[in-house]
Amino acid sequence: MTSPTADCLFCKIVAGDIPGDIVHQTEQTVAFRDINPKAPLHVLVVPRTHYANAAELASADPTTSAALVTAAAEVAAAEGYDAYNLVYNTGAAAGQTVFHAHLHVLAGASLGLAG
Ligand code: 5GP
Ligand code: ZN
Repeated sequence: MTSPTADCLFCKIVAGDIPGDIVHQTEQTVAFRDINPKAPLHVLVVPRTHYANAAELASADPTTSAALVTAAAEVAAAEGYDAYNLVYNTGAAAGQTVFHAHLHVLAGASLGLAG
């Protein structure tokens, strides 16, 4: 699915139809603060084009998939963090609630995933 869906929240933020606290933009990506932050820094980086999840994005457009990671690094650096976590939730059972691919950028608090 690559066309914007009328009921896709993140397509609407990308289009400017609903407000988002946008912190970074490129030709391929838009990054905005999560409305319910789970860490001192919690930004979502999304492709401008609609894909349901990270795997669909990576399969269809690897260049944009990589651009999300690059954008995340730039967001973290701009916010003053040299360490951060990147998370993709894929599937409702894994906690995905918005079915437009989005990369969570989290910093300032340990996720307790390792170490
Ligand atoms: P998911 O659970 O799908 O991986 O992540 C969706 C994220 O979108 C959640 O962290 C949630 O807080 C965030 N979110 C939901 N609605 C909005 C909204 O209207 N604006 C913004 N900026 N974030 C939202
Ligand atoms: Zn969308």
